[in-house]
Amino acid sequence: MKTLTIILLALILLSTTYIPSEKKIIQGVLYSDEGFVTITMENGKISELLRSTDPENNPDVYIAPGLIDVQINGYMGVDFSGPDLTVEAVRKATKALWKAGVTSYFPTLITSDVDLIKKNFAILAEARQDPEIRPSIPGFHLEGPYISPLAGFRGAHLEKYIKAPDWDEFQEIQKAANNGIILLTMAPELEGAIPFIKKCVASGVTVSLGHHNGSATEVQLAVDAGAKMATHLGNGCANEINRHNNPLWPQLSNDALTASIIADGFHLTREEVRTFYKAKGVGNTILVSDALDLAGLPPGEYTRGERTLVLTPEVVKLPKENVLAGAASPISKCIGVVMEYTDCGLKNAIQMASTNPAKLFSLNELGEIEIGKRGDLIQFTIKNNRMNILKTYVNGSLVHAQD
Ligand SMILES: [Zn+2]
Repeated sequence: MKTLTIILLALILLSTTYIPSEKKIIQGVLYSDEGFVTITMENGKISELLRSTDPENNPDVYIAPGLIDVQINGYMGVDFSGPDLTVEAVRKATKALWKAGVTSYFPTLITSDVDLIKKNFAILAEARQDPEIRPSIPGFHLEGPYISPLAGFRGAHLEKYIKAPDWDEFQEIQKAANNGIILLTMAPELEGAIPFIKKCVASGVTVSLGHHNGSATEVQLAVDAGAKMATHLGNGCANEINRHNNPLWPQLSNDALTASIIADGFHLTREEVRTFYKAKGVGNTILVSDALDLAGLPPGEYTRGERTLVLTPEVVKLPKENVLAGAASPISKCIGVVMEYTDCGLKNAIQMASTNPAKLFSLNELGEIEIGKRGDLIQFTIKNNRMNILKTYVNGSLVHAQD
């Protein structure tokens, strides 16, 4: 009986982590210093990095760590918050994201009926058992339902499902997610928010402030309680705010908060992106796509549950309320836009889309090209600040090669 248990445990361990033994060698220009390199991956990890002065083979092909997107609502028609989510759909979205250079992402569920949130987290948790896609989903992001109910601040979240934080309820959601929720976006001004943040942080969940109208005092109290991030700074905010007392200044001026930004060319102006980047610096800025399920589909009008959405070539809108509902571009587009808006250069743009999220969420194997790190790499060209992903490697395996 004991032997059988050991055999079973060994089988389970083997089935949850797929490690390819085949050696992979790639060449190109290193994103961080423009030097020519040959990188070897073995057993899922980077095993060798050789420098060369000969750029003959791939003079225009860059190599960078795979992109990490901590806010993706869906992709290629798969809606993580939708009523029809399946394990197969999560696999489909993950594979489509590999083509866009995203090697790790946090599927993000937004405010909706708590039973639906639990159901979908259970599906995501099941999908995460698949050894092929597990390395690409380090955890989940819950955005809401503990956010501001006020118009503008709540953005596209449905008011009827918004509520004050409830620890017991959150525990139930976390249980349904098989403890997979590692990021929670919430409003610090809600009743009971500060003790709730303390409990989240103590349980290992990173708290990010978003869709809120918190005062300077409330933002500071949230930071003191352990909040570390501001979700898509400048969005999830009313169009008309007080010039002195608004949620932007206290989040911008607080060095303890890393800001995530949607630099897709539509959610923020050039001046906002430049200002946020200058205030936060390259070390405290994270790029996110906030991509909706419609990202990657043809433009047009789509019905999603209780609402109608309009997809333009670049962005998703709620026509009735005339507000942005989310983005339609993957994070690779944001890299080009942030480079164009800020002149930050490729090295810093990749840091904001890979190294920083890996560090913030202690994904120690990811976000950098070093011996011993996981073989999550992308090969791409970049011309006129437009990234073209040629090849994507996850866990040392080739998961995408452009035709
Ligand atoms: Zn949002």
